[in-house]
Amino acid sequence: MVSNNTSITVTILGSGTCVPSLKRSSCSVMMEIGTTKLLFDSGPGTMRRLLESDTTIFDIDYIFYSHFHPDHTAELVPFLFATKYPGNVQRKIPLTVVAGKGFSSFYEKLTAVYGHWIEIAPGMFQIQEFDNKGPDSRRFELFTVDSVPVAHNEESIAFRIKTLEGLSVVYSGDTDYSESLVNLAGQSDLLICESALPDGSEVNGHLTPSLAGKIASRAEVKKLALTHFYPECDQVDMVQQCRKTYSGPLVLAEDLMRIEVSGKQEN
Ligand SMILES: [Zn+2]
Ligand SMILES: [Zn+2]
Repeated sequence: MVSNNTSITVTILGSGTCVPSLKRSSCSVMMEIGTTKLLFDSGPGTMRRLLESDTTIFDIDYIFYSHFHPDHTAELVPFLFATKYPGNVQRKIPLTVVAGKGFSSFYEKLTAVYGHWIEIAPGMFQIQEFDNKGPDSRRFELFTVDSVPVAHNEESIAFRIKTLEGLSVVYSGDTDYSESLVNLAGQSDLLICESALPDGSEVNGHLTPSLAGKIASRAEVKKLALTHFYPECDQVDMVQQCRKTYSGPLVLAEDLMRIEVSGKQEN
């Protein structure tokens, strides 16, 4: 088990937003640590992109939700409904959902609407809420999770996943410029950061390439992947905008892109 656990494989499932797009599905990222599979957000289209990545919903051990906007959570209901077909028997491993405070209430409201159609067999589903007012941290079997609140929604948190060997990947979720994200991302091997709109088109609650670059530079991350692109982003040179503030390794996310994070890659 430990020998498997020397890298984190990141697959961008959806690099887009709420805007329907054949090229960019709504937000979702998968991380694989050994055979353990972690999903970060599940916007519409996530289950199809999982299949395109040779993964089924039954392979997912954890879902982490950065916040509750539909472009990040809407596929949860179809995910749970599909898990029950046929008769709750295909899932062999429990599903753990990790999210900021308020998720249990969010889930209860979904079950008030959909009832038993989305309720997974006893013992196969649990929720872990993280603090949304300050930093939080928890240890799981193969990794630790640190979180901080970020500037978007009340429940919004960003996650840092760290393996037992010390590799770390940070997922920003949606956020405006956040000092807390700079701290969380410090020295990480990869920062997957939202960059929703081009420079000059800033809106509250979101970043642009140069703001994301500023966070990455200040945090001294080893690699930056920009994602969560509204269509306007595909009309401009996002790399050039990011280069105003960040000079390290940089990738622009595309659906089904894989990024291997391993100790060997760092020089
Ligand atoms: Zn959002
Ligand atoms: Zn979003």
